[in-house]
Amino acid sequence: MPARELERAWMDEAIRLATTSVTAGGGPFGALVARADKVIAIGHNRVTATLDPTAHAEVSAMRAACRELDTFSLDGCVLVTSCEPCPMCLSSALWARVDRIVYSADRHDAAVAGFDDRKFYDLFEKKPRSMWPTRVEQLELPHRTAPFDAWLAKSDRVEY
Ligand SMILES: [Zn+2]
Repeated sequence: MPARELERAWMDEAIRLATTSVTAGGGPFGALVARADKVIAIGHNRVTATLDPTAHAEVSAMRAACRELDTFSLDGCVLVTSCEPCPMCLSSALWARVDRIVYSADRHDAAVAGFDDRKFYDLFEKKPRSMWPTRVEQLELPHRTAPFDAWLAKSDRVEY
């Protein structure tokens, strides 16, 4: 499968994980870590389920990938996430030394669903991303807000 097509398939999987996360009682976020043409680990948001405010999809996927690869460095890996990483996940990805981050929905889509990413970015943003050591790219799929739609449609959601 060509690289770009493979990446779209991974993004589809991240969005699917994010949407099923809502049904499973988690937040509407999903992520995976891949290396070469192989998915190493997946993750979804488990903040309310585990009473852990750091249990974001990206952090969960990176923790699982490190366990899987038996290393603390994800050098050579790509982090594919259903939504633009929040500042915490972005910092974690920098610490993990991932090669690249690809996201679909953005901080504005997340804000519509009631998530604070944009507010935190406004606090922290100082340098343009073009100056960052890790490339951060948007792969905007048409169904990128499906997890948020599922979230907003869920009447018994636990907001956090
Ligand atoms: Zn996050």
